[in-house]
Amino acid sequence: MQPTIDASMALLQQAEAEFAPDIVFACSFGAEDVTLLDLISRCARSIVIVTLDTGRLPQQTYDVMDACRARYGMPIEAYFPAAAEVEFIVREAGPNLFRESVEKRKLCCEIRKIHPLRRALAGRKAWLTGVRREQAGSRQQMAAIEHDEQFDIKKINPLIEWSEADVWSYIRAHDVPYNALHDAHYPSIGCAPCTRAIAVGENPRAGRWWWEQEDGVAECGLHASPVKRKS
Ligand code: SF4
Repeated sequence: MQPTIDASMALLQQAEAEFAPDIVFACSFGAEDVTLLDLISRCARSIVIVTLDTGRLPQQTYDVMDACRARYGMPIEAYFPAAAEVEFIVREAGPNLFRESVEKRKLCCEIRKIHPLRRALAGRKAWLTGVRREQAGSRQQMAAIEHDEQFDIKKINPLIEWSEADVWSYIRAHDVPYNALHDAHYPSIGCAPCTRAIAVGENPRAGRWWWEQEDGVAECGLHASPVKRKS
């Protein structure tokens, strides 16, 4: 466990030294992201913390966001979808368009997540994520340092080698605030209408967009872009 933490902190310090103040951590306040936030608070506090508020998040996510604000005393910049874009999709397809087709679900994610992230990353040199390789088959090829071609920016994943047990061991050992939904069998948490609890033995991401999955795993597009591996 200790070498994993040391390696992640070394990578954070290296990234801060190279890219601050033009480096952001896009934090969703899931278990991995509160772990990374805690690490940043300890060793790389000039990294800018941002979050994407889709307007459809569960109350428990706002609660852990508040707990982190109090715990770490670091500003958290919230990026919202453009009102005109949300008004357009709701007017044309209703508030639950994501149930109607994969295309409409991806349009909703594009407007509520991708566009705000694009604004959050504009003018930056690097962004940090809490993704882990074992989370999904689509993340198997991800590396600690990549070039994200979708956003044309350096992408750094300090927890890429961590296991789920590593994450929870860290959270318990450091009393890190975490989303209460994790205790109700939600290993992966996104928007409220697109996230459900999973059963024992299900893929950890099976609770995301479960109605459209054939292989048990779906992605929102934030981490699905082609990347060039650096290490
Ligand atoms: Fe829309 Fe669901 Fe994607 Fe959230 S997760 S942006 S509600 S489709």
